[in-house]
Amino acid sequence: MSVSTIPAGISGYDVAAVRKQFPELSETVYGKPLVYLDNGATTQKPLSVIECINRYYSTYNSNVHRGVHFMSQKATDAMEAARKTVQAFINAASEEEIIFTSGSTAGLNLLASSFTQGLATDDEIIISAMEHHANIVPWQMACERHQLKLRVIPMFENGELDLESLRKLITSRTKMISVVHVSNSLGTVNPVKEIIQIAHEKNIPVCIDGAQAVQHMNIDVQELDCDFYVFSGHKMYGPTGVGVLYGKKEWLQKMPPYQGGGEMIAEVTFEKTTYNALPFKFEAGTPHIEGIIGLAEAIRFVESLGRSSIAQYETALLEYATNALKEVEGLRIYGEAAQKVSAISFLMKNIHPYDTGVLLDKIGIAVRTGHHCTQPIMQYYKIPGTVRASFALYNTKEEVDALIAALHRIQKMF
Ligand code: PMP
Repeated sequence: MSVSTIPAGISGYDVAAVRKQFPELSETVYGKPLVYLDNGATTQKPLSVIECINRYYSTYNSNVHRGVHFMSQKATDAMEAARKTVQAFINAASEEEIIFTSGSTAGLNLLASSFTQGLATDDEIIISAMEHHANIVPWQMACERHQLKLRVIPMFENGELDLESLRKLITSRTKMISVVHVSNSLGTVNPVKEIIQIAHEKNIPVCIDGAQAVQHMNIDVQELDCDFYVFSGHKMYGPTGVGVLYGKKEWLQKMPPYQGGGEMIAEVTFEKTTYNALPFKFEAGTPHIEGIIGLAEAIRFVESLGRSSIAQYETALLEYATNALKEVEGLRIYGEAAQKVSAISFLMKNIHPYDTGVLLDKIGIAVRTGHHCTQPIMQYYKIPGTVRASFALYNTKEEVDALIAALHRIQKMF
């Protein structure tokens, strides 16, 4: 078997020390050490994030923005400092452009609902063939509501988007292009910068679904020049139930609020309500305070390791895993784009993905099986689903070896 090896010492990156920061990685499953390869679904949390949330609830739990008292001020300061941390993390021009949501799904729903309100019948929205349902269904719902048309950029067999078709899909009625940065099913890294350039030539705004990208690469929204960018905290070592919608100020100012309630108002009378300034206009109700503070802590954790060191390590691990999987007889990888991160989807000949997943679980290996909320991708390949191994900054070559050994055993059983 000819597999490349992971560079022994990527400078400053000590995976054994990194693993010690994640308590759940020391757990056992059915008496076997946990091999956690389901990071595309959610990542484990480092001690710093767990302790940060504990500290919030133990020492300064209070509602934000409305209180004159000490604890409320402390919670508000922590939440607004977190907004600045997120702003710096993605290099947004202003903290007014950072809207806290409950996750990528919520960000995309906010955008699809609010942005489409001013559109006219037969206006068009473009998405791609490899979107997560979260970047399909909200747009479909908006299309039904306003009689808009949804267009889809096709993809090639290797899991890359057909950008020539995108050029042809754009018309004078195209009002938004919303595409995934990294496919959660195929691992494809889409050429979003090129897509944004193509769209901006025609003055069309672009939203990027970065749910699977922010944890693996440096994101600079100004450099990308995207108009909107969404991501979730829980896929980047932060808590569940929190996420971010970045939007360029000029767009957010034009868009109507998504939900009504406390916090998002300037003044309410029974006759009329005026709305709060950005970003609060889009943050109705009590926010997920500990989630937001925990997300900022997760960002500090990622930055303490260095995003380029993480990327370098993960790239080597992905290459090692890809080469090793290719050596398993009868195994087909779905998604062989030139640019990939983190996720490898595959099927073993004559073995249902669910069976593979269940057998791997029995030996402590956690993978995901099924359509991964991307049913159109499965329809494209005419398959019921895949087995997906997705990697994070704490996975090791030994864990990949354990997966490969298990797949060889499973293959012999069938
Ligand atoms: N987009 C992509 C590409 C995803 O992978 C996911 C989560 N699997 C989402 C959107 C939705 O994220 P969340 O469930 O955190 O809202």
